[in-house]
Amino acid sequence: MNAHLRRGICPGLSQPMATGDGLLVRLTPTGTTMSCEAFAALCTAARNCGNGVIEITSRGSIQIRGLTEASVKSFAAAVARIDLAFGEGPPVLSDPLAGLALQESVDASAIAVDLRRAIAVAAFAADIGPKVSVAIDGGGTLHLDAVAADVRMRAQARDACLHVAVGGDAEAASPIGAVAAEHALEAAMRMLRVIAAGGPAARARDIVATNGPAAFRRVIADILVDLPGPPRRPAADPLGKHTLRDGPLAIGIGLAFGHAHSTALEELTRAAAELGATGLRTAPGRALLIVGVTANGAGHLADIAQRLGFIVRADDPRRQVVACAGAPICASAEIPTRALAPSLAQVAVAGADAPMVHLSGCAKGCACPRAAPLTVVGIKGRCGVVVNGSARGEPLVMLPPEALPDALSRCADGVRRLRVGDESAAEVLSRLDRAQIMRLILGEATGA
Ligand code: SF4
Repeated sequence: MNAHLRRGICPGLSQPMATGDGLLVRLTPTGTTMSCEAFAALCTAARNCGNGVIEITSRGSIQIRGLTEASVKSFAAAVARIDLAFGEGPPVLSDPLAGLALQESVDASAIAVDLRRAIAVAAFAADIGPKVSVAIDGGGTLHLDAVAADVRMRAQARDACLHVAVGGDAEAASPIGAVAAEHALEAAMRMLRVIAAGGPAARARDIVATNGPAAFRRVIADILVDLPGPPRRPAADPLGKHTLRDGPLAIGIGLAFGHAHSTALEELTRAAAELGATGLRTAPGRALLIVGVTANGAGHLADIAQRLGFIVRADDPRRQVVACAGAPICASAEIPTRALAPSLAQVAVAGADAPMVHLSGCAKGCACPRAAPLTVVGIKGRCGVVVNGSARGEPLVMLPPEALPDALSRCADGVRRLRVGDESAAEVLSRLDRAQIMRLILGEATGA
């Protein structure tokens, strides 16, 4: 194990964050498979030392909640005894089935290991801000297109190269060009050096917004190869069965609203071990991948996961609602998002623009930085409803929390009624005027 991947040590453990339900520790998996035994031990430690709530974030990090000043030390000691490695320094993500995926053209996890090692000894490492991240995508179907990163690389089999972009998710990032796989590490380091030169607050998107992408292109000009940009690809969905290169399957399981109790996770993990799974990985999109099961085993695990309250079907309505921790867990929250979320799941309109509803305890919008068809933001104990905007948007109406389920249900009914063809909820809402949407939400007769 290299120096910067010390077992049980990570910034989250050394710098837990104070929240409304105690201290929170965030662990960033290194992209390798965690054994069932190790993951079950992590669940036990979370239950013994924290309040038992475990979250998988939209980027695939693991968060342990409800620790105390005293118990966080016990938790760190317990994690140190578990055979698990977590990344330190700037997050370097690889695609969740890196090294196992049937369709990948490059093992992104191998590049990620080298990159973490290089960053750890780089002279400029101290100047890289804590939120700067790198996404390396080996080209499998479970890709990282929806994950924002300062530096992103995407392999494509046809070209034997990695396409490089900076400052956002695959859609928003600025393309820089392509480099041969053997130059991927060098290219990533040179671009991180550009970001570090701006100081700890610098982010790639800000550098691009101020000066354009030229600063990044210039530093890798000598290794760029001339290729057209990569094609768009269907959204990655971690749920369901994924065929692996060496035969068995991985099955993706979702955590409802991004969290679960450690008892349920541990029971699922022990069932996975009994069914022959080799281990687990986390996946962006608040999911777990159970690796190395047969088709039969995957079916059994899906039944067990469903019984335990996990999400196993792509059309599960809970997937239409994304919620942050909210009150009382987060001290900044103005509304109890997790208590409200289940009552809103049934009102959502299935469509291409899931999630339909983003519940945000405050304007920070931790759970979903993007626009959603309906964003509910907590303001002084009330719910501001922002249409086709983010948590920082201007609310169209303000409602008490108890009025929210009926209001969003009426709005969803209206969207269904007014939808033409396969229009998404966002498209329907975008062609209605302010008064029409207010009538949908508030339940008055509408000519819309
Ligand atoms: S969006 Fe606000 S309330 Fe929700 S977790 Fe983030 S800071 Fe807390």
